Amino acid sequence: MSEASQPRRVPVWLVVVVALAFIPAATLAMSIGALFGSMMNQQSTGGGGSVSCTGVTAGKYQNYYESVLQGISAPVTDGAVTGLAAWHRAEGGKAAWNPFNTTQDAQGATTYNSVGVKNYPNEDTGVTATVKTLLNGNYPQILSALRDNAFDIHSLASAVDSSAWGTKHLSDVAKNCTTTQTGDFAQGCPTYPRGTPWGGHRNGQIPEASPEMVELPAGMHGGWLRCDAGKSLMALSAQFKKKFGQDISVTSGYRTVGEQRLLYATKPPGAAAVPGRSNHGWGCAADLGSGISNFGSPQFQWMKQNAAKFGWVHPAWAESHPFEPWHWEFQACSGATPAPGP
Ligand SMILES: [Zn+2]
Repeated sequence: MSEASQPRRVPVWLVVVVALAFIPAATLAMSIGALFGSMMNQQSTGGGGSVSCTGVTAGKYQNYYESVLQGISAPVTDGAVTGLAAWHRAEGGKAAWNPFNTTQDAQGATTYNSVGVKNYPNEDTGVTATVKTLLNGNYPQILSALRDNAFDIHSLASAVDSSAWGTKHLSDVAKNCTTTQTGDFAQGCPTYPRGTPWGGHRNGQIPEASPEMVELPAGMHGGWLRCDAGKSLMALSAQFKKKFGQDISVTSGYRTVGEQRLLYATKPPGAAAVPGRSNHGWGCAADLGSGISNFGSPQFQWMKQNAAKFGWVHPAWAESHPFEPWHWEFQACSGATPAPGP
């Protein structure tokens, strides 16, 4: 950031000292307890997703980023930590313990360059200075992006780039990031190894009424999916409903091998997967209505932008061969597995 972007303010320590002088000791103890309590709660909030960006790792700043998130009362999640690491990369901060190039003064700080960026003597000092800057009242959009339970690196990127901070290129770094939120919405589901087959099952021969599977609510037209896939789709549907006023309707979820055979027999060649090969048979694919099935519709575009945050993707093959805008898959099911079938 540049010096100009950080207006002079009354120092935070002065405000605190003046405030403390008027607070009885007992109240103060309670406030501090409440503060730490709320930090702990924030830390255990599960939200946010796992974000990975090409060439971006937190490295020695892992603990630094976690401390910054705690300091601004944001959930400490992998996604937000990666977001800060991506920000560091975009900012190109080379000063000591100052990844985002703040000019905030601190005890023991030395001047790194002519615009007043500081070197900090240690990690704690850098964290405190960075938190002070973020909380100085000039960066509400950055704070709300970092505090969002459904952390989105693109929201952070646009908040940072459009702010007075001066980074400007986080959106470019964020183009090489992907987000998955598998697990975050899957409360109560078993954990599954990545890929298929899973659970010792055979395709299309999974008992529906088991803890491994979940039944979709009537508002989504029912049907079954693998538990984590289904719960993530329900969470995605809740967001979809805020935008479009209706749930995502699932025209086809889990398919038994018998249903796959029937479909294969009635569809033109190539339009249905070989029975026993469909990702529907793993409870990991869903055919969607509610406007999503119209390629390029606002609903389809919204899904392209948002579904991956919930672990759902539109596979590349479904954009051409065969063309199936309605067919979506749960990412955690793909991996070193047979090619997904329609
Ligand atoms: Zn399908």
